[in-house]
Amino acid sequence: MGSIKDLYGKGKTVLSCEIYPPKKEDEFNNIYTKLEQLSEIKPDFVSVTYGAGGSNAGKAVEIADYAKNKAGLEVVSHITSVGFSKEKLEEGLNRFKDIGIENILVLRGDRPKLMTDEQFNTRDFLHASDMAEYIKGKGMDFTLLGACYPHKHPEAKSEEEDINNTKTKVDKGCDVLISQLFFENDYFYRLIDKLHDLGVKAPISAGIMPITSAKQLGTTVTLSGTTVPEELSSIISKYGDNPEEMKKYGIDYAIKQALELKNRGVDGIHFYIMNKPDLAKILMDAVR
Ligand code: FAD
Repeated sequence: MGSIKDLYGKGKTVLSCEIYPPKKEDEFNNIYTKLEQLSEIKPDFVSVTYGAGGSNAGKAVEIADYAKNKAGLEVVSHITSVGFSKEKLEEGLNRFKDIGIENILVLRGDRPKLMTDEQFNTRDFLHASDMAEYIKGKGMDFTLLGACYPHKHPEAKSEEEDINNTKTKVDKGCDVLISQLFFENDYFYRLIDKLHDLGVKAPISAGIMPITSAKQLGTTVTLSGTTVPEELSSIISKYGDNPEEMKKYGIDYAIKQALELKNRGVDGIHFYIMNKPDLAKILMDAVR
């Protein structure tokens, strides 16, 4: 295997999940066991996140290396451009190339708290699409992925503007798109219809996150700008104080969403599993 682009368009739903480098040292040591567990579940690929400005660059490379070369997983490494000069980007990409990573999710990232106005306003890459164009222009041999937003990106003035910017991302070199998480499939269908109307042919994986605690939902909504449908909010109000029941109904909701997406024939489903292989197993078994 190599380019994850080749997984799509073969008549099956591509199933993948996201892993992030844990901040705490003990959790970090645990991540290798989790990657081994994931390898038994056999997702089509895992994606490994990257701190904006490269804050956890070393850990992201270490995890990607283990996932690819020890656990035998196909890997997409995220890279964020917000704190990067062109030289730093090339340095980062070369580290991934050296460990055999062939797929990169290019992201702008969010502005790190410590970044000054001057640093932010003079950055080399304003957008993910600028980074895609630069990497392709340099002839670096990566399959590039980009992010897309069923509820539009929070900074975009309108949905139309954001969708046009997503098309630019594909025009500049992103071969595959992965969506931000959402809880109502209609928003995702609307996004893919609009992208298809603009002639975008890149496969698009749908981002699904199981909500397993009431607290998690609050953080998730703040970070992603997604809306919460009545069905999910009533699960929270009924079971929010009962961790076992909350987990069960939250997972059931995600499975229902994923099965509907699969039946609709979406290209892929990307699960935000919060570094929990047991969740990946339940979700992927159900969809398969
Ligand atoms: P961009 O594509 O640059 O878009 C940002 C804004 O600029 C949007 O409003 C867009 O409409 C607009 N825009 C885009 N292109 C243009 C253009 N050419 N001209 C004018 N306007 C434009 N963050 C991390 O820090 N680390 C991660 O590992 C990470 N992984 C993620 C994975 C996925 C699947 C998703 C959906 C998000 C992830 N994020 C991650 C969060 C992401 O960094 C933020 O959402 C960030 O605010 C936007 O990144 P982007 O690449 O979509 O930016």
